[in-house]
Amino acid sequence: MEIKLVQKVMKVNDELAQGVRKRLRAAGVACVNMMSAPGSGKTSLIEAALRHCGGAPRIGVIEGDPDTTLDAERIAACGVPVVQINTDGGCHLEANLVGRALGDLDLDALDILLIENVGNLVCPVGFDLGEDKRVAVVSVTEGHDKPAKYPKLFRGADLVVLNKADLLPYVDFDMAFFRDTVRRLNPGVLMLDMSCRTGDGVDAWVAWLRETAAAKNFV
Ligand code: MG
Repeated sequence: MEIKLVQKVMKVNDELAQGVRKRLRAAGVACVNMMSAPGSGKTSLIEAALRHCGGAPRIGVIEGDPDTTLDAERIAACGVPVVQINTDGGCHLEANLVGRALGDLDLDALDILLIENVGNLVCPVGFDLGEDKRVAVVSVTEGHDKPAKYPKLFRGADLVVLNKADLLPYVDFDMAFFRDTVRRLNPGVLMLDMSCRTGDGVDAWVAWLRETAAAKNFV
């Protein structure tokens, strides 16, 4: 009985996600679902892109958090459209929440929508939000073993960002182990080393977003 119920929830989410995908494609807006543990730097990555991209592509943001509008306030300070979703303690975003948030955005004024999921390496992975691409973010302070311990996120990622790379000299982070694990889980996936603090790697991140925004026709 319980299994049937879970399957039904997932099926409803998948249908709603397809609706979100259709609306975004009709408006010519690419969509990226950003996932990581809390504190890896998802919001900082979005801020860095906004500061460096010079308005191209035109970026809109949906912020997912259990509580507060702190992240949305940081994004709004960059002068771009942002909608905060509070999940009231929920550990992931679902397509119905994203669908409702789309109503608060002028899609015609956007090239790409960045969805910052709730900080969590497990729960968000199973929920399609209607995105075209998935980004997995890890910071070096979390340890090199995260892809091995949370493989599903990395298997399904289109881009893996290793953030806070400026802290590498101060932590025991085995880069070879990290990269080998990611490659084993997801051969050929693009990996970017970044530091939002120093700005290293931000150019490559912005280039990836521009490429994603320009692609439009995803399969
Ligand atoms: Mg955040």
